[in-house]
Amino acid sequence: LAAALTAAWGSSPIRALAAASTGKSPTLDALLAQMTLEEKAGQLTLMPAAVDGRVATFNPAQPDASFQKQFADARAGRLTGLLNTPSLEAMRMFQDVATKQSRLRIPMMFGADVIHGYRTIFPVPLAEAASFDPSLAERTSRVAAIEAAASGLDWTYAPMVDVARDARWGRGVEGAGEDVLLSSDMAAARVRGFQGKSLKDNDAVLACPKHFAAYGGAEAGLDYSSVDVSERSLREVYLPPFKSAFDAGALSTMAAFNEIAGIPASANPWLLTDVLHKEWKFDGFVVSDWGSDVELIHHGFAADGRDAARLAILAGVDMSMSSALYITHLPSLVASGEVPMSRVDEAVRRILHVKAELGLFENPYRRLDPARAKTRVFIPAHRALAREAAQRSIVLLKNDGDLLPLSPQGKRVALIGPFAEGPHDLVGPWTVFGVDAEAVDLATGLRRVITDPARLSVVKGSDIEVPIPGGIDAAVAAAKNADVVLLAIGESQDMTGESHSRSQIVMPPAQQALAEAVAKTGKPIVVLLKTGRSLALEGAVLQAQAIVVTWFLGTETGPAIADVLFGAASPSARLPVSFPRSPGQEPYHYDHKSSGRPTTSEKYDPFRTNFIDTPNAARFPFGYGLTYGHIAYSGFIQSTPSITANGSIEVSAMITNTGTRPATEVVQLYTRKNPASVTQPVRKLKAYKRVDLKPGESKKVSFTIAAADLAFLDQKLQPTIEPGNYFVWIAPSAEHEGVSGQFTLTRTAQAAR
Ligand code: BGC
Repeated sequence: LAAALTAAWGSSPIRALAAASTGKSPTLDALLAQMTLEEKAGQLTLMPAAVDGRVATFNPAQPDASFQKQFADARAGRLTGLLNTPSLEAMRMFQDVATKQSRLRIPMMFGADVIHGYRTIFPVPLAEAASFDPSLAERTSRVAAIEAAASGLDWTYAPMVDVARDARWGRGVEGAGEDVLLSSDMAAARVRGFQGKSLKDNDAVLACPKHFAAYGGAEAGLDYSSVDVSERSLREVYLPPFKSAFDAGALSTMAAFNEIAGIPASANPWLLTDVLHKEWKFDGFVVSDWGSDVELIHHGFAADGRDAARLAILAGVDMSMSSALYITHLPSLVASGEVPMSRVDEAVRRILHVKAELGLFENPYRRLDPARAKTRVFIPAHRALAREAAQRSIVLLKNDGDLLPLSPQGKRVALIGPFAEGPHDLVGPWTVFGVDAEAVDLATGLRRVITDPARLSVVKGSDIEVPIPGGIDAAVAAAKNADVVLLAIGESQDMTGESHSRSQIVMPPAQQALAEAVAKTGKPIVVLLKTGRSLALEGAVLQAQAIVVTWFLGTETGPAIADVLFGAASPSARLPVSFPRSPGQEPYHYDHKSSGRPTTSEKYDPFRTNFIDTPNAARFPFGYGLTYGHIAYSGFIQSTPSITANGSIEVSAMITNTGTRPATEVVQLYTRKNPASVTQPVRKLKAYKRVDLKPGESKKVSFTIAAADLAFLDQKLQPTIEPGNYFVWIAPSAEHEGVSGQFTLTRTAQAAR
């Protein structure tokens, strides 16, 4: 690093000091020693580009006044970096100012929300979680990083690893759903994908697992609302995906907007310092969420901006995003002794360390080469991966009479619904740089397969939320003239995402009315469900012969859906969130506890307590999804009736495809300890495997459960492997029986003493 700094800075005054300094990072210490308090506060200050990436028309020849002001800040060392900057040219100009005109020549870093692709857009993360294949998420994140880094970015504000158990919450679409294991696996995979082999590679971007922590636990699923979860829930549910992301090497994280039991996450020293650094030894830095420091005032926690800055930095927020609170108030807070200089130095050191890890001191332009974008962005290989990812995210919920796959010949198809056609609602929420106009819609995808125009009619039928005049009549007429109806209905991309929670997680009434009218024609219906959350389906939508969850699939939406409908690809994805029977069940998640008064009406689960108007079971549970095969589970075998605390057990089942088409089955392993010294969920996912089965083929699928895999947190929140009785299921979903057994964990000789 010292050599690199010297090379980059030539005769900078740092050079002499570097040689004389002591400590772990002599060069960084030397640099710190040179910095004024304002320059230090500048390294802790991240601002949005003066023009937002989404709307930018940046003219490099004539940067406007707001850009000029930001150039002046960069020149004065008052900015560590920018987020969502519109163009690579703009970023280059900022880097020029920072590294050639500022006093200490510290490079800037550029970040953006690259959540599910940069310009080639992949399925929304919730959809990709449905693949139950972390290696797929790793590959798409790798490509997102390649495109982002080729476009000037050093840093992505992703992955979102918030466990989300309330479908009303709009941001569930950005994460991996309700389960801790799947969320943790996806978190690690995305970090590996974004950061590649080394952060210094020109095509690696720094990952930022967010939002630390428990943002998904918002009361009533209302975005930004308070969270009041126990330390147990934090440690069992909300924190593990973060730990998994950090173990995979993520070197930044974002402090959440929400409070947790009265203390806002962005001013929470226990969370941001004790757990993150002292317990987990996290080596990176914490950035606030957008203004989450200034929002401490709205929370009723800080008196004013100065107080908010003090609380945030003392708690462990190293970098302030968008509020400018640190650059404004840290100098006086340090001068008055309210914030020790050592804390400011610690924050600066963390950030400079990551900038060094990103290779920015060696070459501040490594991700700012305009030639790279031409060969690395939106290229055919990336679009091919987008198509594969989309195929593998599609979940088949229902397929009565094997209606699907359709034959490309013969049948007349009516494609009906507000999502049938047009450049909207394709890429999904959180695509700063990708646009619907570059994505392929459903009608286009179908026309590539159904080449005879007489066999495909396309009718809108309804707007997303309001009826259109004559819409239903036209839809019914089209349905009558067809052999099969494809009903493309659901949520728009504006019905999920930040600050887009819904109180009613149902089909918008105008589209429900459309479905009811079309169903009356008696024609077979395939519902193509566009959604960013689980929905409580009812009426004609639920009664349709086939239901296919198509989420927001990105650039290759139309071709991928056509691939699945006509059998070029086979559905293999599973729900990463439970679809409830009724919206009032939310927050519903499969791994609930058993109450003291369970009712026994449900066939598969003697552990539930029901509502008077609905059984408290999922309509389509977590882990559920059909294939084009027919899968049977049989022959449970366990290697031993009992294990010790350092032993393991192998359990297996025969999985058979009794159907006539090949299938990929996601075989799931669940366990429950009952009784236990701390009550345990009725089932907990422990492992999953994707298994390919030809028609008629049987495979023995085995899992090894080590006693350590059965550990849970005891009454003092310490991990324990408790002797006693364990239930185990190998099953096709969280609420299907599959096959099951029981074993005991016996005390080791030592523990018995
Ligand atoms: C969101 C973050 C995002 C940030 C920057 C905030 O409103 O909560 O997830 O990274 O904006 O765009």
